[in-house]
Amino acid sequence: MSERQFLIAGNWKMNGGPFEAAELLEGLRSAKNEISEEVDVLVCPPFVSLGMAVKYLHDSDIQVGAQNLHFEDNGAFTGEISATMLAESGCNFVLIGHSERRQYFGENDETVNKKAHTALSHKIAPVVCVGESLDQRKKDTHFDVVSDQVKKALQDISDSEILDVVIAYEPIWAIGTGETASPEQAQEMHAFIRAEIAALYNEETASAIRILYGGSMKPANAEELLSQTDVDGGLIGGASLKADSFSEIISIAEKLS
Ligand code: PEP
Repeated sequence: MSERQFLIAGNWKMNGGPFEAAELLEGLRSAKNEISEEVDVLVCPPFVSLGMAVKYLHDSDIQVGAQNLHFEDNGAFTGEISATMLAESGCNFVLIGHSERRQYFGENDETVNKKAHTALSHKIAPVVCVGESLDQRKKDTHFDVVSDQVKKALQDISDSEILDVVIAYEPIWAIGTGETASPEQAQEMHAFIRAEIAALYNEETASAIRILYGGSMKPANAEELLSQTDVDGGLIGGASLKADSFSEIISIAEKLS
């Protein structure tokens, strides 16, 4: 058993304004008020619900993260949110480079890298998302694609900073589709990413960094995915919007810890 602690993270996407978020968090706390110290739990609501979530969860073990940030600290960037603002709001994690942001909002490896640096310099842990499309998997280029994404995302991130980074492997073909990577496919890619980290940094760093799986994780498949040696948690979209299913996944992680 590795010393890496599971991280179970909920990506709410564009769901849950302050009222709905309060209801969801209320449901989560009544379904799962006690969380084992061996599992980290994170929710990532939309920006407008972050303040409410931080306030509501201040006496719980659930942490709050954002779904994006801008790499500049302030200025004429209408509609954007900076790391300073997130830190001030009480966020200690931020998702970076989610495939939906890459697909719809022009996110690319360069902006992912800039955002990761900015987050780290504000003591916010970046959850860097990588993953291949169905076409890339069919063409058997998925390892090259993910390797490239990992290398570019982590460019110039120092040996000390890397320990605060979380990687989320999210095959695009499994996000919100009901399709899940098989446990073997997930393990294969997670082990590959860990080997990439070992080559970029060292073995010790590679064995310490957390690599989450994301893509239609739900209570029915969480156990087999989380049981894989190199799967250190989940980034969960749809199933994090239901208190029962998210708390069930947390319980599975607790059982496996
Ligand atoms: C996600 O949005 O990161 C995700 C994995 O979504 P889903 O669990 O709905 O596939």
